[in-house]
Amino acid sequence: MDRTTSRRLFDRSKAHIPGGVNSPVRSYSNVGGDPPFIASGQGSRIVDADGNSYIDYVMSWGPLILGHAHPEVVEAVRAQAGLGVSYGAPTEPELGLAEMIADAFASIDMVRLVNSGTEACMTALRLARAFTGRDKIIKFEGCYHGHSDGLLVQAGSGAAHLSQATSAGVTAAQASDTFVAPYNDLRRVEEIFERSRGQIAAVIVEPVAGNMGMVMPETGFIGGLRRLTLEHGSLLIFDEVITGFRIVYGGYQDYARIEPDITCLGKVIGGGLPVGAYGGRREVMETVAPLGPMYQAGTLSGNPIAVAAGIATLKALQDPSVYMSFSGLTHRLCSGIEAICGELAVPVQVNRLGSMWGIHFSDAPVTCYADASGSDAEAYRSFFHKMLDSGIYLAPSPYETSFISTAHSRADVDETLDAVRHSLAAD
Ligand code: PLP
Repeated sequence: MDRTTSRRLFDRSKAHIPGGVNSPVRSYSNVGGDPPFIASGQGSRIVDADGNSYIDYVMSWGPLILGHAHPEVVEAVRAQAGLGVSYGAPTEPELGLAEMIADAFASIDMVRLVNSGTEACMTALRLARAFTGRDKIIKFEGCYHGHSDGLLVQAGSGAAHLSQATSAGVTAAQASDTFVAPYNDLRRVEEIFERSRGQIAAVIVEPVAGNMGMVMPETGFIGGLRRLTLEHGSLLIFDEVITGFRIVYGGYQDYARIEPDITCLGKVIGGGLPVGAYGGRREVMETVAPLGPMYQAGTLSGNPIAVAAGIATLKALQDPSVYMSFSGLTHRLCSGIEAICGELAVPVQVNRLGSMWGIHFSDAPVTCYADASGSDAEAYRSFFHKMLDSGIYLAPSPYETSFISTAHSRADVDETLDAVRHSLAAD
């Protein structure tokens, strides 16, 4: 596959954009090689600057649940752009999106729109601190909640209770307010609560993890977090930036019937444009300015074009058959991959739920970050490049999740399975 134009564009980009990309994982540093530059997308496919076509399972990292250039989303954007792109004043579409979110999530009475998932999670933590009057939070190893300072941390080594920053520029003080526990390890969470009685403002969790590959919560884990946070007077924050409107319309919380105190949203609610949100019950959200003492603001928050794309996307998702068709297609794809790997004796774990799915090359189930990082990264790298050269665009990292959209078809899945067989058989 010729990618000469992409290579030239990447070389030029490196002169003026750090690493040539505006978000690190796009650089292919996890899999090696150079990224194709994308020129257009339609339905389930993208086309690169050299004219190569790929079936896309990244889908802009989750927002494009209706596929690329969905006609209703495009029309909503076009119509709103003609009326002006931003006013910095309240608009009816913002109200519309807020009402749709509150209708979808029983735990949300009020919601504030922001511009990204990072902003949503960063602010949700500030809100939890403001509401409880406590400083510390608990997060899970391998969960990603955006790049705000206090969240770029990992567990300290050995018996050390203090967390360490995973990024330069994060202060030790910021890291020390965040405790890190292994995903699916309720006992560790219990220990942290015992050790730090009365200090934990919130537990933040991806209720289905999508940033260490895809990892499912074990039975009782999320419910256990709900119980512990209630016992200790802390808030439970679901980061549903990926899972909101994706697993089912009402997100993981509707699927599992567990209500958090605060929910973070992003990705799907902007239909591919920059929208994030955090919301919760009235009593908590009344802490937010101008009603309460916790400050948060944004020049472009609730941007009318972005909100129009979000509303068009959510309207299309209100047809319940959407989520049923996802399950059927994901099942066809994932069980197909398992069957091919079985025939070829390739150890693999294929996790899936609704339209989320992910591959780990491992012979043992993957339930936490240690399991994920123990899977065969070299096998993923090789598989990734062979798939790319066969016209299948997977996430350029074994630590990401893949997505299908309403635009993916059985024919796409069957073409993907042919490429899987070809890619693995060639080893
Ligand atoms: N939370 C989760 C679960 C995510 O996957 C991401 C991004 O991938 C974020 C938060 C941050 O969102 P954004 O990239 O929009 O800032």
